[in-house]
Amino acid sequence: MNSKLFDLSGKTAIVTGANTGIGQGIAVALAGAGANVALVARRQPDETVAMINDMGGKSAVIVADLSTIDPCERVISYAQAEFGGVDILVNNAGIIRRNDALDFTEDDWDSVMDVNLKSLFFLSQAAARVMAENGGGKIINIASMLTFQGGIRVASYTASKSGVGGLTKLLANEWAAKGINVNAIAPGYIATNNTAALQADEKRNSEILGRIPAGRWGDPSDLGGAAVFLSSDAANYVHGHILAVDGGWLAR
Ligand code: NAP
Repeated sequence: MNSKLFDLSGKTAIVTGANTGIGQGIAVALAGAGANVALVARRQPDETVAMINDMGGKSAVIVADLSTIDPCERVISYAQAEFGGVDILVNNAGIIRRNDALDFTEDDWDSVMDVNLKSLFFLSQAAARVMAENGGGKIINIASMLTFQGGIRVASYTASKSGVGGLTKLLANEWAAKGINVNAIAPGYIATNNTAALQADEKRNSEILGRIPAGRWGDPSDLGGAAVFLSSDAANYVHGHILAVDGGWLAR
């Protein structure tokens, strides 16, 4: 097999929410495949920087709060200035609010939709304008099992992640001819801050584990291979796909 297919040397990747969890796992995997990684985070992502340094990789930090779309242009132009070009964007930053639908507030709704969907769209737009001029690129959105399923007590999260699935396909349709591949990764149950409440709830934890064919929670590093694949030349003809990395959850 031609290992160059998965080689990201010299590519510039931007990963949002790169200080922890899945974003950290993906940033480290992309750096391991040779990419220079712009780490977007609300606070200094020291641990991720150290992990990439230890592998001899290159990163730059962009502190930005994606609860509004204000930083979107700045994120893209900074990465471009730092590393030259923007080849890969991973829209990973996301939040969740848990509440009964009867009690769900406007803030529970707007906060989640703004980060998970609105900023994802406008950051993709800013990146795609640069990618289109430079002959193409890869955009990877982080979807969810709730892109496919309804969930419970997470109304805005389900709406946002179902929206991510739809937008991934729409953007793929609009931008494929410009050489831009837009795809998504749908993680299953991954042990991160986002799922800390579920892991801590003994009953929910054992129900979840009992339904995962692989029999374990995923680790952020489990997402790395899918991210490298979708960022690489190996995925040049893959458009609008939502790749589940879920220990078999959706197969049940
Ligand atoms: P996490 O550890 O809580 O990571 C979320 C990341 O998003 C953090 O880096 C967080 O920064 C960042 N973020 C949140 N709001 C932000 C904002 N306003 N501006 C900039 N960054 C912001 O959880 P995770 O599980 O790794 O989540 C990563 C993505 O995977 C999310 O889109 C989530 O919905 C998705 N996902 C997770 C699972 C799972 O099982 N864990 C399953 C399916 C999908 P702070 O650290 O500063 O809060």
